[in-house]
Amino acid sequence: MRYVISGAAGFIGSHICDRLMGQGHEVVAIDNLITGHVENIQHLIGQPGFTFREEDVCQPVASVDRVDRVMHLASLASPVDYLRNPLETLESGSTGTRNMLELACDHGARFLVTSTSECYGDPLEHPQVETYWGNVNPVGLRSCYDESKRYAEAITMAYYRVHGVKTNIARIFNTYGPRMALNDGRVVPAFIDQCLHGKNLTVFGSGAQTRSFCYVSDMVDGLLLLSESDERYPVNLGNPVEMTILEFANEIQSRFGEGVGIEYMPLPSDDPKLRRPDISKAQRVLGWTPKVPLSEGLSLTIDYFKKKAKDTDHLAKPAAVQPLRTDQLAVS
Ligand code: UDP
Repeated sequence: MRYVISGAAGFIGSHICDRLMGQGHEVVAIDNLITGHVENIQHLIGQPGFTFREEDVCQPVASVDRVDRVMHLASLASPVDYLRNPLETLESGSTGTRNMLELACDHGARFLVTSTSECYGDPLEHPQVETYWGNVNPVGLRSCYDESKRYAEAITMAYYRVHGVKTNIARIFNTYGPRMALNDGRVVPAFIDQCLHGKNLTVFGSGAQTRSFCYVSDMVDGLLLLSESDERYPVNLGNPVEMTILEFANEIQSRFGEGVGIEYMPLPSDDPKLRRPDISKAQRVLGWTPKVPLSEGLSLTIDYFKKKAKDTDHLAKPAAVQPLRTDQLAVS
C-alpha cells in the first residue's frame, strides 16, 4: 500500500516509516522540519518506495499519484516547542488536519490522526477513559496544543460523518524512545541529557504529578492496528504503568549512579497533576497491550542518547531547562 505520513521526520513518525518500509509498503514522507530532523529518516532516503517531501501540511498537499492510507502525525508535540510556536501548533492541528483529510477524501484513503492525552487537560477523572470530556483551560499557555488537537478530533469526525472518510483517532499518552530530540524539554530526554552532563535533574513542582510512559515500538504497534480498524471514536494508546515524576527521577538517578542530584523548579502552569490511560478499549478493539517495560525501554533510549552524544559532540551544548509559568502569560 502507499502511505502518506505527515511528521515523518519526527520522533514517532520516523519509527512508523521504518515499520512500513520493513513491511514492504510505499511511503510518501512529509515534514516541514520545524521540529523533525532529516537524520531520523536519512537511512530510508534513496530506498525504493520511499519519498521524502519537505512540505508544510498547512499548505494544500502537492499531488500524490495514488494514496491508500494517510497518517497525520505532524505537530509540535513537546511543551517547549508548542509554547515557543503556538500559532504553528494551532495551524498544524487545524489547517494541517483539514489538508490531510482532504487528501484522504480525494483518494478514498483511510485516515488516522494522532491526538493526545492533553485532550483531557488537567483531568478530574482518573485514569482517563475515552468517554471523559476533559478539563482543559481554553486560554491557558497549553491551550494552543490542547485545543488544536481537540479541533483535529472534531474535524476528523466531521469528515467521517459528512464525507464518509474512514477515519481513526489515536489519543497518544507520553511516549519515549530513540529519536526524541535531546533538547525538546520533555522529561525523558531532559533527565537523560542532564545526567549525560553531570547536572542535577530538574524536577518541576514537588514531583508528585504522575505520568505513564510508553515505549515507541509499542506505540507504533498500536497506531498501525488502529489504522486498520473500523473504530471511528478516539482510542487511548499509552502504557498504563503510572509513576510520579519524582519516582521517575529516582529511576534515572539509579542508572547514572551517585552524583546526580535533584533541583526543584516551579511547576509550569496547567501541568496535569495525574495522567494514566485506561486502555481497556484498545485492548478490546485492537487486541493491543504495550509489551516493553520501562526498564528495557529506558536502557534502549539511554544507549541511543549516549551514542548520539558521542557522534555529534552534543555534550558540548547542554540544554537549558526553564519551565514556563503562569506569570509569563502576557494577558490580564
Ligand atoms: N518535567 C519535569 N522536569 C523537566 C521536564 C518535565 O519535572 O525537566 C515534568 C513536567 O512538569 C510534567 C512531566 O514532567 O509534569 C512530563 O512532562 P513532559 O514535558 O515530558 O510532557 P507532558 O506530559 O507535560 O506533556
